[in-house]
Order: sequence, then structure tokens, then C-alpha cells
Amino acid sequence: MPAKQKLCVIGDPVLHSKSPLIQNTMIEVLGLDCEYLCQPVSSAELPRFMADMQAGNWAGCNVTMPHKQAVLPHLNGCSEAATLCGSVNTICNRSGSLYGYSTDGGGFLRSLAEYGFYPEGKIVTLLGAGGAAKSVALALYRAGASSVRIANRTVPKATELCRLAPSVLEAHSFDTPTLCRLAETTDLLVNCTSLGMGGTAGQFEDFSCLDCLPAGATVYDLIYFPAETELLRRAGLRGLAAHNGLGMLLHQAILALELFTGRPIDPAQVLPAVRLALQSANL
Ligand code: NAP
Repeated sequence: MPAKQKLCVIGDPVLHSKSPLIQNTMIEVLGLDCEYLCQPVSSAELPRFMADMQAGNWAGCNVTMPHKQAVLPHLNGCSEAATLCGSVNTICNRSGSLYGYSTDGGGFLRSLAEYGFYPEGKIVTLLGAGGAAKSVALALYRAGASSVRIANRTVPKATELCRLAPSVLEAHSFDTPTLCRLAETTDLLVNCTSLGMGGTAGQFEDFSCLDCLPAGATVYDLIYFPAETELLRRAGLRGLAAHNGLGMLLHQAILALELFTGRPIDPAQVLPAVRLALQSANL
């Protein structure tokens, strides 16, 4: 990457984003000659920002709500994962051509691997069918999971998601008897709903599906604030392996920086400093 390249995260709102802290910490640890800024961009301003980027004013950016789909018409190409998901969270400017990527699913898989969990041949139950669930479900499908059951409050949304890979993805309802029945044969349970998230999000009404999981099952909650959701606390009490979504957040950021710089990054080199920076900022 040529000297002092400008990178940023765009969104509206975006000032809450942890990306600048995470990326600038990694940039410092790796001694890269670039800077990463927080760039509020409204929907009305998006075409102008994309033209600025194409003109060379930005080497790359991360994309958050509400632009993850809206940037698609401005791109010259997309990765397979981004095309399948129909959304982009990372854009690289390659000599005036803009390429879109989706690093959420890859970040999730790398985080799982850090815990020694490899999806090939595994049975997964996934709660939720929103944007995050879509990335995770497709990543699990591509990683060779034998079955990914998607249980969602709004079943038609799960059904639509499952059309993307009908050989592996199955749609289910979100009621307790269904979740308990699915749990009995689950290797990995992933919460991709906003239930349990800090702030205004709601809470699970019933946790009994945790009691139906086999003893060796893993529970992964995409939420990382609070660090221990009620779902994870109860999974831990049951003696199950229980992990929050911070690893996914950090690994998708590493993947984005790899795409920006075109070079692999050893997570062990950057993660301790990033975790420390987040702790110091009370995040
Ligand atoms: P989203 O598109 O808004 O989807 C929200 C999902 O939660 C939907 O499936 C929704 O069901 C379900 N839900 C909401 N309230 C519910 C309730 N009361 N009962 C049952 N289901 C309910 O959100 P998203 O972008 O996918 O994000 C989902 C979660 O993942 C958030 O907590 C987000 O912070 C987290 N996340 C973490 C990372 C990471 O890096 N760790 C990355 C992305 C997202 P309906 O379809 O029925 O509405």
C-alpha cells in the first residue's frame, strides 16, 4: 500500500463504531503507513462519497448501517460471500475500481477455529434470520456444516434465507418445543438474534433449549455487549462451552485490514493490543 493511505468506516450513525479504535490499534502495532477515520455519510451523501473514493481519496472503507446494500450499485465487483449475502461491509479501492467484501462470516469462522470448533460435518442450530444470521449461515454452509437449522420468529424470513442453500439450510419456527427438539441433536447453537443485547433489546423468554443440548455442545452468542449474556451465563452453568461475539468482531476487522493491505496478518500479533485498547476504552 503506498504511503499514508486513508481508510474509514462509513455509516449513519457511525460515531459509536469501534472500527477506528480496532483498526488504528492494528495499524500502529503493524507499523502501517495509513490512517483510519470515522466518516459519517448519510444516504443522500453516499453517491458523492463513492465517487470520492473512486477518484482516489480513500483506499478503502468499512460499511455499516444503512449502507450495506446501498453501496452495491456503486461497486465494480464483489466477493462470492458478498454476492451471496447481498451486502458488503468492506470496500477496497484497487486503482480506481471498487470491490466489495463481506467479512462477517469469515470472521465468525476464524473466531470458532480459535476455540477449536470446525463446522465440517457438524449440525448447527442458528437463532435468527437477519443480516448477521445470513452471513453466519452461509459461512457455515461454505465451511461444510452438514445441517444448519435456522429458527426465526418470522418464519418466512428463515424460509427465504434457506433458499440460498436448500441442501443444508432448513427453516424452523422459534417456539420452545421446536428449539428443544432441535437442540437435542445440535453440535453448535448460535444466537444471531438481538435478544440479550445490552440497551433496549429484549430477552429470551425461555432458556430450556439449553437443557436439551448434548453435553459436548458449544454455544456462541454473536452479542459482545454485555460480555456475558444471560444465554451464555446459563450455558456456562450447564458446563457447555460458551463464547461471545467479540472474537467475530475482531477477526472480521483483521480480515478487512488484510483486504485493505493485501497481506496476511497474524492475529496473535495484533489481538492482545486490540483487546487492551478496547478494555482501556471500557468497550
Ligand atoms: P437484524 O437484521 O435486525 O436481525 C435481528 C434478528 O433478531 C431477527 O432474526 C429478528 O427476528 C430477531 N429478533 C429480534 N427481536 C426478537 C424477539 N423479541 N424474539 C425473537 N426474535 C427476535 O440484526 P442483525 O444485524 O442480524 O444482528 C443480530 C445480532 O447480532 C445483534 O445483536 C448484533 O449486535 C449482533 N452482531 C454481532 C456481530 C459481531 O461481530 N459479533 C456482527 C453482526 C451482528 P424477526 O426476523 O422475527 O424480526
